[in-house]
Parts: sequence; C-alpha cells; structure tokens
Amino acid sequence: MAPIQVKKICCIGAGYVGGPTCAVIAAKCPHIQVTIVDLNKQRIDAWNSDNLPIYEPGLDEVVKGARGKNLFFSTDVDKGIAEADLIFVSVNTPTKKSGIGAGFAADLNYLQLATRRIAEVSTTSKIVVEKSTVPCKTAESMRTILEANSKPGCTFDILSNPEFLAEGTAISDLFAPDRVLIGSLQTESGLNACASLSEVYANWVPRERILTVGLWSSELSKLAANAMLAQRISSINALSAICEATGANIDEVAFAVGKDSRVGPKFLKASVGFGGSCFQKDILNLVYLSESLHLPEVAKYWKAVVEMNEHQKSRFARKVVDTLFNTITGKKIAILGWAFKKDTGDTRESPSISIANHFLNEKARLSLYDPQVTEEQIWLDLTDYGAIPAEPIKPHVTIQQSAEEACKGAEAIVICTEWDEFKTLDWEKIYANCPRPAFVFDGRLMLDRKKLQSIGFRVVTIGTADGY
Ligand code: NAD
Repeated sequence: MAPIQVKKICCIGAGYVGGPTCAVIAAKCPHIQVTIVDLNKQRIDAWNSDNLPIYEPGLDEVVKGARGKNLFFSTDVDKGIAEADLIFVSVNTPTKKSGIGAGFAADLNYLQLATRRIAEVSTTSKIVVEKSTVPCKTAESMRTILEANSKPGCTFDILSNPEFLAEGTAISDLFAPDRVLIGSLQTESGLNACASLSEVYANWVPRERILTVGLWSSELSKLAANAMLAQRISSINALSAICEATGANIDEVAFAVGKDSRVGPKFLKASVGFGGSCFQKDILNLVYLSESLHLPEVAKYWKAVVEMNEHQKSRFARKVVDTLFNTITGKKIAILGWAFKKDTGDTRESPSISIANHFLNEKARLSLYDPQVTEEQIWLDLTDYGAIPAEPIKPHVTIQQSAEEACKGAEAIVICTEWDEFKTLDWEKIYANCPRPAFVFDGRLMLDRKKLQSIGFRVVTIGTADGY
C-alpha cells in the first residue's frame, strides 16, 4: 500500500486553531478541498461573512482569497466527515476538576464526541488527525472509539499533528512555521498516513521543517513546548519580584541572561503574567498526567509554574492598591487592555480579568478599554459567563471606546495588554485630565517611563525598585 494523495480535508472545530490552520492549508493547496465544520452556527455564519469570528492579522485576506473556491465553512458536520479522506479534529479540550489530587484533567468530551461521530458517519477509510492539544496517549482512546463504532471495511489511521501557532501571529506562524510535527504509529499504515499529511504541508513548508516522530512523542511534545514557554515566563516573573526588592532592573537582567546563546532572548519579558487558553491548561494536563503516572515530584515541579503565575497577577494588583495609599475604595482606575495579549481579541484566562476582579473586590470604580474585545465579551468575563450576577458590579464598571476616554479622571492607569497603540497615546492630554497624583502602572514594561515621568506621571513597573 502506498500513501494516499489527500484531496478532501475536513476540519472539525472552527475555532482559533481550526479556522486559521485550515484556511492556510486551503490557500496554499488550491488542489485540495477544505471544509471546516462546527456545531456552532453563529460561528460558522461569521466565518461565511465579512466579519470573521476571530481577529488575527492577515486572516481576512487568507479566508477571503480561498472561501467559496476550495475553502468552505459549514454546520453540516456529517457531510464534511463523509466526504473527506483526511479529518482534523480541532475541537476545544478545556480542563475539568478531577479526582486525582483534586487536580485538573483535560476534558476530552468534545474530542470523544467528534471521534465517535467520525466512526458513525464514515463509509470509507480515513486519516484522523489530532489537532487539538491532548494528554499523551489520547490517540489510544480515539482508536478504541473509532474501531468500536466503525462500519465494516472502514479503517482509520490516527496521527498527532499538534498546532504551535501563537494567537496574534497565527497567520505568519502558519505560513512559516518553525516546525510541523507529525506523530504516527510506526506501522506501515501509520507511516503511510504520516507521509500523506507530510505531502500536504510540503506544499509550502520546507521538508526539513516537517518532523515525523512516534505518536506519543508528538502528543507529549505539544504539552512540553507550552510548559517550557510558560516556565520561562514564570521564571522571569519570579526574578522580577527579586528585582523590586533589591534594586536590580528586570529588563537589564533579562537582556544579560538572554545574551547567553544557550538561553536566548525570547520569552524573557516580565509582565502581569501569562494568559490565554493554552499555557495554564496544558501545564495542568501535565500535572495531572504526572500524578496519574505516580510521579508526584514531577507534578509538583510543573504546578509551581502555574502557582507563580497566579502569584504574579495578585502581586501586581496588590502593588496598585498599596501604591494608591492602601485603599482604592471609590477611586477610578483605568484598565487598558482586556485581551490576554496584543493582536488578538481572545480573553481566555486574561490577567486583566483577575486584576479587575481584585480591584472590584476592593470597591474601585473601573473604566475599561480594549481595541479588539467587545463590551459583551468583557461582561461575560466579569460575570464568569453568568455565574456571578452582573447587577452589583454594573454601577462600578464602564467600558469605553478609546483609551483616552477610559483614562479621563482616573487616579491610576493600569496597562494589562501590550497593544502598540498605548505607546503613542497623547499622554500629555491624558495627564491633563487626571487628578493628582496621577499614576501609571505599566504591567507590560512597554511605555517610555522617563517620558511619562517628565509629563508628571508617577510610574510604577514590574521588576524595578525605582521610585516614581
Ligand atoms: P475553540 O474553542 O476556539 O474552538 C473549538 C471549536 O470546536 C468550537 O467552535 C466548538 O463549537 C467546536 N466543536 C466542539 N465539539 C465539536 C463537535 N463535536 N463537532 C463540531 N464542532 C465542535 O478552541 P481553539 O482555541 O481553536 O482550540 C482548539 C484546540 O487547539 C484545543 O485543544 C487547544 O488546546 C488547541 N490549541 C489552541 C491554540 C490557541 O492558540 N488557541 C494553539 C494551539 C493549540
């Protein structure tokens, strides 16, 4: 048997990963028909409209260039599955509270439902690709589900092809990835399936960047990559606390450390902490996996990365309160940035949410602004998707359409997301509209501190002990 040539791809899950990933495949492989399916009709309608459901630089051009030609978005999951010869499973894999050590396990319900549907609907053999981030050995349970529910004559090869894109740079990451990782069983049929998917990527990715490994290595590599990235952030944030206590400067320390070619300069920026749907979830997966493998010391090690991140968020929020003379009751605080990082509208696990909640608990009045996050999303976040009643919070929160408007009358301006536009705001005008003393808390180390000080602001940053 030779590897098949992929002609029709279906992607189950039209989210932050499935949408951009498969849109890029369609753009780069005009000879392949790509159908992205989702149960969420609102999301599919948005993919088919001028107003895409997610914000990513460059995504509009990619989608609009291929949509209707070889790229389709549909709610007809069964048809998408039935027609495809290769199916990406790119559904959400959130965390859920679990028994072991009261830890957090991956909630694989969506993945299992999608897998079951593939087996039930398929009348021909398929290559099934795990695109979602999953715990190591998930392909084994997928195989059991597929084999137990398949029609006679249908066979399934399972591949792991984790996605390494970063939100905010998804399109450039997909166009020129550091690597594409494909894991397969080392059987003839597994290796053939791996070769078929490699050929798809080889349409634009240099072959030396397409890494083929064993199935379990591929699954674990994705968790490992995110854990290592998050660990760097927690390491630099832990050092930022030492800087504040000693007079060292975290930017200088990061620069000096990053110059060591063994360490490198990336991901060494101190901040309010990491957010996003992946880092925390994937580390907690690793913690759970370690616990279930009876490796408690390994679990403890990775758990500390998440605990350090929580500490950094609350440490920053406490610093704001301490600096404002130990009370923020009734004081107006502007929070600039709600997304978990710049160039995305995604707010999942955004540090802004916990910082805002801290301020609300201390009875501050909040004025919020983000260039890409909708007012509706901010309210969903503040109320934990309806779990917390909105009415008691409403009088204390306003959401503004510009940073300048949000800062009017604020006793403190808190930068939570590193949006470029915050660098070029008319800070003199903002200062003129603030009561005295006026504070800026730069949670992203992104502003020109000296310039703000020369205007009159008192500037507090992470990782420096300098006065105002
Ligand atoms: P998402 O929540 O944005 O999208 C998942 C989509 O899957 C949703 O629209 C949901 O409606 C759909 N879905 C769920 N079950 C379905 C089913 N049975 N049939 C059809 N559609 C179904 O999630 P995401 O951010 O795209 O993440 C997807 C996976 O990729 C996760 O495992 C995540 O950990 C991983 N990942 C995410 C990123 C990222 O930056 N967001 C990066 C790399 C990997």
